[in-house]
Amino acid sequence: MAIIDGKAHAAAIRQEVKTQAASGANAHLVVVLVGEDPASKVYIRGKEKACAEVGFKSTLISMPETSTQEEVLAVIEKLNKDPDVTGILVQQPFPAHLDKNKIVSFVAPEKDVDCLGPCNVGLAAMGQGKLLQCTPSGVIGLLERENIEIAGKHAVVIGRSDIVGKPLALMLLAKDATVTICHSRTKNLAEVCRRADILVAAVGRARLVTADFVKPGAVVIDVGMNRNEKKLCGDVDYDAVKDIASYITPVPGGVGPMTIATLMQNCLRAWEMQK
Ligand code: NAD
Repeated sequence: MAIIDGKAHAAAIRQEVKTQAASGANAHLVVVLVGEDPASKVYIRGKEKACAEVGFKSTLISMPETSTQEEVLAVIEKLNKDPDVTGILVQQPFPAHLDKNKIVSFVAPEKDVDCLGPCNVGLAAMGQGKLLQCTPSGVIGLLERENIEIAGKHAVVIGRSDIVGKPLALMLLAKDATVTICHSRTKNLAEVCRRADILVAAVGRARLVTADFVKPGAVVIDVGMNRNEKKLCGDVDYDAVKDIASYITPVPGGVGPMTIATLMQNCLRAWEMQK
Protein backbone atom coordinates (compact mmCIF):
# COMPACT_ATOMS: atom_id res chain seq x y z
CA MET A 1 0.00 0.00 0.00
CA ALA A 2 1.24 3.51 -0.83
CA ILE A 3 0.35 6.55 1.24
CA ILE A 4 -0.42 9.52 -1.00
CA ASP A 5 1.47 12.50 0.37
CA GLY A 6 -0.88 15.40 -0.29
CA LYS A 7 1.40 17.81 1.55
CA ALA A 8 4.28 17.11 -0.84
CA HIS A 9 2.09 17.30 -3.96
CA ALA A 10 0.55 20.56 -2.72
CA ALA A 11 4.00 22.03 -2.04
CA ALA A 12 5.05 21.11 -5.60
CA ILE A 13 1.94 22.85 -7.03
CA ARG A 14 2.56 25.98 -4.93
CA GLN A 15 6.13 26.01 -6.23
CA GLU A 16 4.85 25.76 -9.82
CA VAL A 17 2.46 28.65 -9.21
CA LYS A 18 5.24 30.66 -7.55
CA THR A 19 7.53 30.13 -10.53
CA GLN A 20 4.82 31.23 -12.98
CA ALA A 21 3.80 34.13 -10.74
CA ALA A 22 7.39 35.37 -10.54
CA SER A 23 7.11 36.71 -14.08
CA GLY A 24 4.77 39.44 -12.92
CA ALA A 25 1.45 37.91 -11.86
CA ASN A 26 0.33 40.40 -9.23
CA ALA A 27 -2.81 38.48 -8.30
CA HIS A 28 -4.80 39.77 -5.33
CA LEU A 29 -7.17 37.48 -3.43
CA VAL A 30 -9.81 39.05 -1.19
CA VAL A 31 -11.50 36.75 1.33
CA VAL A 32 -14.79 37.94 2.81
CA LEU A 33 -15.68 36.42 6.18
CA VAL A 34 -19.11 37.03 7.64
CA GLY A 35 -19.22 36.12 11.34
CA GLU A 36 -16.70 34.51 13.65
CA ASP A 37 -16.64 30.80 12.75
CA PRO A 38 -13.37 29.53 14.33
CA ALA A 39 -12.81 26.79 11.72
CA SER A 40 -13.24 29.38 8.93
CA LYS A 41 -10.56 31.53 10.54
CA VAL A 42 -8.15 28.57 10.49
CA TYR A 43 -8.89 27.90 6.79
CA ILE A 44 -8.45 31.59 5.95
CA ARG A 45 -5.06 31.70 7.69
CA GLY A 46 -4.02 28.74 5.50
CA LYS A 47 -5.11 30.64 2.38
CA GLU A 48 -3.30 33.82 3.45
CA LYS A 49 -0.14 31.80 4.14
CA ALA A 50 -0.31 30.13 0.72
CA CYS A 51 -0.80 33.52 -1.00
CA ALA A 52 2.24 34.93 0.78
CA GLU A 53 4.30 31.88 -0.18
CA VAL A 54 3.53 32.09 -3.90
CA GLY A 55 3.83 35.88 -3.99
CA PHE A 56 0.17 36.93 -4.22
CA LYS A 57 -1.40 39.73 -2.23
CA SER A 58 -4.28 38.73 0.07
CA THR A 59 -6.76 40.80 2.02
CA LEU A 60 -9.32 39.71 4.59
CA ILE A 61 -12.58 41.63 4.92
CA SER A 62 -14.29 40.64 8.18
CA MET A 63 -17.98 41.50 8.44
CA PRO A 64 -20.12 41.13 11.55
CA GLU A 65 -22.34 38.05 11.96
CA THR A 66 -25.37 40.34 11.81
CA SER A 67 -24.52 41.74 8.34
CA THR A 68 -27.52 41.83 6.04
CA GLN A 69 -27.72 40.23 2.62
CA GLU A 70 -27.60 43.71 1.05
CA GLU A 71 -24.49 44.67 3.00
CA VAL A 72 -22.65 41.51 1.90
CA LEU A 73 -23.72 41.98 -1.73
CA ALA A 74 -22.59 45.63 -1.62
CA VAL A 75 -19.10 44.56 -0.49
CA ILE A 76 -18.92 41.95 -3.28
CA GLU A 77 -20.11 44.49 -5.87
CA LYS A 78 -17.32 46.85 -4.87
CA LEU A 79 -14.76 44.05 -5.16
CA ASN A 80 -16.20 42.95 -8.52
CA LYS A 81 -15.55 46.46 -9.85
CA ASP A 82 -12.12 46.96 -8.27
CA PRO A 83 -9.41 46.31 -10.91
CA ASP A 84 -6.84 45.75 -8.14
CA VAL A 85 -8.80 42.66 -6.97
CA THR A 86 -8.39 39.58 -9.17
CA GLY A 87 -9.89 36.88 -6.91
CA ILE A 88 -12.85 36.92 -4.52
CA LEU A 89 -13.76 34.18 -2.07
CA VAL A 90 -16.66 34.43 0.36
CA GLN A 91 -15.80 31.99 3.12
CA GLN A 92 -18.40 29.35 3.93
CA PRO A 93 -20.34 28.48 6.01
CA PHE A 94 -22.41 31.69 6.01
CA PRO A 95 -24.68 32.75 8.85
CA ALA A 96 -28.10 31.10 8.35
CA HIS A 97 -29.96 34.33 7.50
CA LEU A 98 -27.89 34.86 4.35
CA ASP A 99 -28.90 33.38 0.98
CA LYS A 100 -25.89 31.28 0.03
CA ASN A 101 -26.90 30.85 -3.63
CA LYS A 102 -27.44 34.57 -4.15
CA ILE A 103 -24.07 35.41 -2.64
CA VAL A 104 -22.00 32.90 -4.61
CA SER A 105 -23.86 33.86 -7.80
CA PHE A 106 -23.01 37.51 -7.25
CA VAL A 107 -19.22 37.12 -7.45
CA ALA A 108 -17.96 38.14 -10.93
CA PRO A 109 -17.26 34.87 -12.83
CA GLU A 110 -13.71 35.89 -13.76
CA LYS A 111 -12.92 36.55 -10.07
CA ASP A 112 -14.78 33.49 -8.69
CA VAL A 113 -11.66 31.57 -7.59
CA ASP A 114 -13.74 29.21 -5.42
CA CYS A 115 -15.66 28.31 -8.60
CA LEU A 116 -19.02 28.18 -6.88
CA GLY A 117 -21.06 30.51 -9.08
CA PRO A 118 -23.39 29.13 -11.78
CA CYS A 119 -21.25 30.38 -14.67
CA ASN A 120 -18.10 28.53 -13.60
CA VAL A 121 -20.02 25.49 -12.35
CA GLY A 122 -21.74 25.28 -15.75
CA LEU A 123 -18.51 25.70 -17.71
CA ALA A 124 -16.83 23.04 -15.53
CA ALA A 125 -19.76 20.67 -16.15
CA MET A 126 -19.33 21.27 -19.90
CA GLY A 127 -15.63 20.45 -19.57
CA GLN A 128 -14.72 24.05 -20.48
CA GLY A 129 -13.94 25.44 -17.04
CA LYS A 130 -10.85 27.60 -16.58
CA LEU A 131 -11.48 27.97 -12.86
CA LEU A 132 -12.18 24.60 -11.22
CA GLN A 133 -13.74 23.70 -7.90
CA CYS A 134 -10.79 23.46 -5.54
CA THR A 135 -11.33 20.26 -3.56
CA PRO A 136 -12.45 17.97 -6.41
CA SER A 137 -9.76 19.38 -8.64
CA GLY A 138 -7.27 18.64 -5.85
CA VAL A 139 -8.45 15.00 -5.79
CA ILE A 140 -7.93 14.69 -9.56
CA GLY A 141 -4.51 16.32 -9.10
CA LEU A 142 -3.53 13.68 -6.52
CA LEU A 143 -4.59 10.82 -8.80
CA GLU A 144 -2.75 12.28 -11.79
CA ARG A 145 0.41 13.15 -9.89
CA GLU A 146 0.52 9.58 -8.54
CA ASN A 147 0.07 8.30 -12.14
CA ILE A 148 -3.07 6.43 -11.13
CA GLU A 149 -5.07 5.55 -14.22
CA ILE A 150 -8.60 6.97 -14.23
CA ALA A 151 -9.84 6.08 -17.74
CA GLY A 152 -11.89 2.91 -17.75
CA LYS A 153 -11.80 2.54 -13.97
CA HIS A 154 -14.90 2.30 -11.84
CA ALA A 155 -14.92 5.32 -9.52
CA VAL A 156 -17.39 5.43 -6.64
CA VAL A 157 -17.90 8.80 -4.98
CA ILE A 158 -19.70 8.84 -1.64
CA GLY A 159 -21.32 12.28 -1.25
CA ARG A 160 -23.16 14.50 -3.75
CA SER A 161 -22.55 17.99 -2.41
CA ASP A 162 -22.18 20.93 -4.78
CA ILE A 163 -18.64 21.61 -3.59
CA VAL A 164 -17.16 18.11 -3.57
CA GLY A 165 -19.13 15.01 -4.58
CA LYS A 166 -21.06 16.27 -7.61
CA PRO A 167 -18.24 18.21 -9.32
CA LEU A 168 -15.77 15.41 -8.58
CA ALA A 169 -18.08 12.85 -10.20
CA LEU A 170 -18.24 15.06 -13.33
CA MET A 171 -14.46 15.50 -13.38
CA LEU A 172 -13.92 11.74 -13.10
CA LEU A 173 -16.46 11.20 -15.88
CA ALA A 174 -14.61 13.72 -18.06
CA LYS A 175 -11.47 11.63 -17.47
CA ASP A 176 -13.36 8.57 -18.79
CA ALA A 177 -14.02 6.77 -15.51
CA THR A 178 -17.26 4.84 -15.04
CA VAL A 179 -18.78 6.78 -12.15
CA THR A 180 -21.22 5.85 -9.42
CA ILE A 181 -22.41 8.50 -6.97
CA CYS A 182 -23.58 7.33 -3.55
CA HIS A 183 -25.36 9.44 -0.93
CA SER A 184 -27.37 9.27 2.26
CA ARG A 185 -30.21 7.33 0.59
CA THR A 186 -28.01 4.79 -1.21
CA LYS A 187 -28.92 1.22 -0.34
CA ASN A 188 -26.23 -1.41 0.33
CA LEU A 189 -23.52 1.26 0.48
CA ALA A 190 -20.67 -1.11 1.38
CA GLU A 191 -21.59 -3.46 -1.46
CA VAL A 192 -21.63 -0.62 -4.04
CA CYS A 193 -18.32 0.75 -2.72
CA ARG A 194 -16.69 -2.69 -2.90
CA ARG A 195 -17.02 -2.49 -6.70
CA ALA A 196 -14.82 0.60 -6.84
CA ASP A 197 -11.34 0.73 -8.34
CA ILE A 198 -11.20 4.30 -7.05
CA LEU A 199 -13.24 5.02 -3.93
CA VAL A 200 -13.69 8.61 -2.76
CA ALA A 201 -15.35 9.42 0.56
CA ALA A 202 -16.74 12.97 0.87
CA VAL A 203 -19.36 12.60 3.54
CA GLY A 204 -18.36 14.12 6.86
CA ARG A 205 -18.85 10.99 8.98
CA ALA A 206 -15.82 9.78 10.92
CA ARG A 207 -14.71 6.29 9.88
CA LEU A 208 -17.83 5.53 7.80
CA VAL A 209 -15.71 3.61 5.29
CA THR A 210 -14.64 0.37 6.94
CA ALA A 211 -12.68 -2.61 5.59
CA ASP A 212 -15.81 -4.20 4.08
CA PHE A 213 -16.25 -1.15 1.76
CA VAL A 214 -12.93 -1.68 0.02
CA LYS A 215 -11.97 -4.08 -2.76
CA PRO A 216 -8.39 -5.35 -2.39
CA GLY A 217 -6.11 -3.08 -4.41
CA ALA A 218 -8.56 -0.18 -4.65
CA VAL A 219 -7.41 3.44 -4.47
CA VAL A 220 -9.00 5.14 -1.46
CA ILE A 221 -9.27 8.94 -1.30
CA ASP A 222 -10.54 10.45 1.94
CA VAL A 223 -11.95 13.98 1.63
CA GLY A 224 -13.62 13.94 5.06
CA MET A 225 -12.51 16.29 7.81
CA ASN A 226 -14.21 15.44 11.08
CA ARG A 227 -13.29 17.10 14.33
CA ASN A 228 -15.71 15.31 16.63
CA GLU A 229 -13.01 13.48 18.59
CA LYS A 230 -10.78 16.50 19.27
CA LYS A 231 -8.23 15.47 16.65
CA LEU A 232 -8.97 15.66 12.93
CA CYS A 233 -10.03 12.40 11.32
CA GLY A 234 -11.36 11.40 7.92
CA ASP A 235 -14.37 9.45 6.64
CA VAL A 236 -12.21 6.35 6.22
CA ASP A 237 -11.20 3.96 8.99
CA TYR A 238 -7.56 4.39 7.96
CA ASP A 239 -6.05 1.62 10.10
CA ALA A 240 -8.60 -0.95 8.96
CA VAL A 241 -8.37 -0.01 5.26
CA LYS A 242 -4.69 0.80 4.71
CA ASP A 243 -3.56 -2.77 4.14
CA ILE A 244 -6.39 -3.56 1.70
CA ALA A 245 -6.00 -0.47 -0.50
CA SER A 246 -3.25 0.00 -3.09
CA TYR A 247 -3.13 3.76 -2.41
CA ILE A 248 -4.68 5.75 0.42
CA THR A 249 -4.74 9.40 1.48
CA PRO A 250 -4.15 10.21 5.16
CA VAL A 251 -6.14 12.79 7.13
CA PRO A 252 -4.60 15.23 7.75
CA GLY A 253 -2.02 15.55 4.97
CA GLY A 254 -3.99 14.14 2.03
CA VAL A 255 -6.70 16.06 0.19
CA GLY A 256 -6.74 19.09 2.52
CA PRO A 257 -3.45 20.71 1.40
CA MET A 258 -4.41 20.14 -2.25
CA THR A 259 -7.53 22.29 -1.87
CA ILE A 260 -5.48 25.38 -1.03
CA ALA A 261 -2.87 24.60 -3.68
CA THR A 262 -5.65 24.41 -6.29
CA LEU A 263 -6.99 27.73 -5.03
CA MET A 264 -3.57 29.25 -5.78
CA GLN A 265 -3.75 27.81 -9.32
CA ASN A 266 -7.19 29.39 -9.70
CA CYS A 267 -5.88 32.75 -8.41
CA LEU A 268 -3.19 32.64 -11.08
CA ARG A 269 -5.68 31.69 -13.83
CA ALA A 270 -8.09 34.42 -12.74
CA TRP A 271 -5.28 36.99 -12.93
CA GLU A 272 -4.35 35.72 -16.40
CA MET A 273 -7.98 36.03 -17.54
CA GLN A 274 -8.15 39.64 -16.38
CA LYS A 275 -4.76 40.99 -17.33
P1 NAD B 1 -22.10 17.85 2.77
O1 NAD B 1 -22.63 17.68 4.15
O2 NAD B 1 -22.51 19.01 1.96
O3 NAD B 1 -22.43 16.54 1.94
C1 NAD B 1 -22.28 15.26 2.49
C2 NAD B 1 -22.77 14.23 1.51
O4 NAD B 1 -22.66 12.96 2.11
C3 NAD B 1 -24.23 14.40 1.10
O5 NAD B 1 -24.32 14.35 -0.30
C4 NAD B 1 -24.95 13.22 1.73
O6 NAD B 1 -25.97 12.69 0.89
C5 NAD B 1 -23.85 12.22 1.91
N1 NAD B 1 -24.06 11.38 3.08
C6 NAD B 1 -24.37 11.78 4.33
N2 NAD B 1 -24.47 10.69 5.14
C7 NAD B 1 -24.24 9.61 4.39
C8 NAD B 1 -24.19 8.24 4.65
N3 NAD B 1 -24.42 7.74 5.86
N4 NAD B 1 -23.92 7.41 3.63
C9 NAD B 1 -23.66 7.88 2.39
N5 NAD B 1 -23.68 9.19 2.09
C10 NAD B 1 -23.96 10.05 3.07
O7 NAD B 1 -20.51 17.78 2.95
P2 NAD B 1 -19.33 18.32 1.99
O8 NAD B 1 -19.27 19.78 2.08
O9 NAD B 1 -19.38 17.63 0.68
O10 NAD B 1 -18.08 17.75 2.80
C11 NAD B 1 -17.90 16.36 3.01
C12 NAD B 1 -16.71 16.15 3.90
O11 NAD B 1 -15.57 16.64 3.23
C13 NAD B 1 -16.76 16.91 5.24
O12 NAD B 1 -16.10 16.14 6.22
C14 NAD B 1 -15.97 18.16 4.95
O13 NAD B 1 -15.39 18.71 6.12
C15 NAD B 1 -14.91 17.62 4.04
N6 NAD B 1 -14.33 18.62 3.15
C16 NAD B 1 -12.99 18.63 3.06
C17 NAD B 1 -12.37 19.53 2.23
C18 NAD B 1 -10.89 19.49 2.13
O14 NAD B 1 -10.29 20.44 1.65
N7 NAD B 1 -10.25 18.40 2.55
C19 NAD B 1 -13.11 20.43 1.49
C20 NAD B 1 -14.51 20.38 1.56
C21 NAD B 1 -15.11 19.45 2.40
